[in-house]
Amino acid sequence: MQRNLRIAAVQFRDEFDLEIGRAFFGLQVGPLTAREGSSDRYSEAYDTWVNTAAHPQIVDSIFLIDAEQAALRLRRWDDATHTFQPIDWPQVLQAWRPQLEQELANFRAGQLPDRRMTFRGEDSLLAAPLRTVELNPVAGSRPQTVTPLFGFTVVQLDLPFIRQSLLPDLVQRHFSHPEDAMYRVAVVDGDDPRQVIYASDPDVALDPARADATEPFFGFRTGPFRMAPAADSGATETRRADGSTDARRGDPFRWRLIAQHQSGSLEAAVAGARRRNLAISFGVLLLLSVSIALLAMSSRRAQRLADQQIEFVAGISHELRTPVAVIRSAAENLSVGVVGNADRVKRYGAMIHGEALRLGEMVERVLQYAGIESGLGFGARTPLAPEEIINAAVDSALPLLGPDRVNVHREIADELPPVVGDAAALRSAVQNLIANAVKYGGQDRWVGIRAELARERRRQVVRITVSDHGPGIPSTDLPHIFEPFYRGADALARQVHGNGLGLSLVKRIVIAHGGQVAVTTRPGAGSAFTITLPAAEPDTHASSVAGEVSAPVHS
Ligand code: ADP
Repeated sequence: MQRNLRIAAVQFRDEFDLEIGRAFFGLQVGPLTAREGSSDRYSEAYDTWVNTAAHPQIVDSIFLIDAEQAALRLRRWDDATHTFQPIDWPQVLQAWRPQLEQELANFRAGQLPDRRMTFRGEDSLLAAPLRTVELNPVAGSRPQTVTPLFGFTVVQLDLPFIRQSLLPDLVQRHFSHPEDAMYRVAVVDGDDPRQVIYASDPDVALDPARADATEPFFGFRTGPFRMAPAADSGATETRRADGSTDARRGDPFRWRLIAQHQSGSLEAAVAGARRRNLAISFGVLLLLSVSIALLAMSSRRAQRLADQQIEFVAGISHELRTPVAVIRSAAENLSVGVVGNADRVKRYGAMIHGEALRLGEMVERVLQYAGIESGLGFGARTPLAPEEIINAAVDSALPLLGPDRVNVHREIADELPPVVGDAAALRSAVQNLIANAVKYGGQDRWVGIRAELARERRRQVVRITVSDHGPGIPSTDLPHIFEPFYRGADALARQVHGNGLGLSLVKRIVIAHGGQVAVTTRPGAGSAFTITLPAAEPDTHASSVAGEVSAPVHS
C-alpha cells in the first residue's frame, strides 16, 4: 500500500509538472519574435501547444516584457491575430515592475537577465528570459544563436482552473479507489503548509508531518529553466515586489502534495485491518472449538443415553422376571393339584393377583414414559379437585405396596380450588411419590400427604406434599434423582425394586401442567416431595378423578 501510494504521488507530480512544463517551455519567446511582435515560428509553436496540450486552459495569458529605448514595454499574445499586442500593465504584473526595472538596469550594466526570476509568492506567474536560440530552426541549418536581448516571457496560469478542475481531476485519477476514497489528498503551499491550495476533504486539515506520502511538485529540478532557485543553492535572497528582501531556504517546488489514509494513517489502517483479521480468525477458531466441544458433549450424551436404554431394558426385564416367575410357579402348583386346601388356594390367588398388579403397574409406567418421551402428550385436561387426585392416588398405590399396612396421614386444607389437568397423569404423579415414600420410608411405613393453597408470583397455587420418616436422600444422589433411570446407591444396594423412572415421570408431568416439583430432605429425618400446580380460574368446577383411575396416560 505504501509503495502504491508513493507511485501514485510520483505519477501525480509527473503529470502535473509535465503539463505545466510543456506550456512553459513551449511558449517561450525568442528575440526575433520579440523584435517583430510576431513570427510564423512562434505561431506554429503556439498552435502545436494548443493542439497537443491535454489542458490548454491552464494558460490564461502570455506576456512579453522587453525594453523599448529606456523604458519597459509590455505586450500580450493575442490569440485572434497571433501577434503580441501592447497593453497596459495589469495589476498582477504591476507589482513586479520595480524588480523588472532593476533587471533592465543590470542588463544595461552588462549583466545577463537573472534566470532565477521567480515572482516568488505569486504562483500564477512563470517567467523566463528571452531565448538566445531561435525555436524551430530552418530545416538543415544549425540553430542560430542571436545576440542577447533584454526581455522575459511571462506565462500567466489560470489558477482557478487548476484548482477547480486540473487538481481534482488528477487526484481522482491517481488516488481514488474503485470502492471508496481511501486517501485524503491536499495540495499545500511549498513554504507554508497551512496555505491550502486544494483539499479533497475540505473539512479535515492534513498535517504533512503525519502524512503517509508527501511529494513536492510544480517545479523543475534541473536545467536552465528552473522556475525557482535550486534546492542546492541554499538560502537564497529573493527580491520581493515591494523591494524588500526575504531570505528563505531555496525550494524548487512551489506546491506540495499530501496524502493521508482516511483512517488517520496507513499504519493505523493496516494495524486495524490486521486486528480485524485476527479477531475474525480467533472468532472462527472459537466457534470451531465450541462446536467441537458441543459435538463431543452431544455424542457423549447420546452414548450415555444408549447405555441408559440398554440398562433400562435389562432392568425392566429383570423386574418383569420376578412377578412372572412367581405367577408361573403358583399357576403350575395350582394346575397339577398340589394345592388342595381351599385356604391355600385363596392365598395363591391373592399372590397371583398381587404380582399381576405389580406387573401391570410396571408395564403402565414404561408405556407412560415412552408416551411422554415420544411427545404423545396427555389426555384431555379438566378441572380436578386436589383432594380427589390424592385419594385416587392413595387408592391405586396401596394395592401395589404389599400386604402390610401403610399408615397414610392426610392433611387436606378446606375449600381448595381445583387444578386443571389430565386426571390420570396427575394421579400417577402423586401415586409415584406415595410409592417412593413407602419403598424408601423405612420401617414405620408412614406416609404424610398435605395439600394447601399458597400464592406464588401473584397467582394462586395448590401444593401437594408427600413426606416420609425415612433416612432421607444422600447428597450424592440428590442432584440426580429426577434423571430418568437414575437409582440411588442405597436402593441398588438393598435391591428395592424399581427402574429409576418414577421421579423423572413426576417431573415431566408436573412441568407439562405448568407447575414444578421440589424436594427437601434431612439425613435421618425423612424426605418431603412437593408438587406445586397453578390453581384453576375461580369459576371452574372440578370433575371426578376416580372414574379415570385405570385410564392409561398415553391413550
Ligand atoms: P425408583 O424408585 O424406581 O428407583 P425413582 O425415580 O422413583 O426411581 O427414584 C429415584 C431414586 O431416588 C431412588 O432410587 C431413590 O434412591 C431416591 N428416592 C426417591 N424417593 C425417595 C424417598 N422418599 N426417600 C429416599 N430416597 C428416595
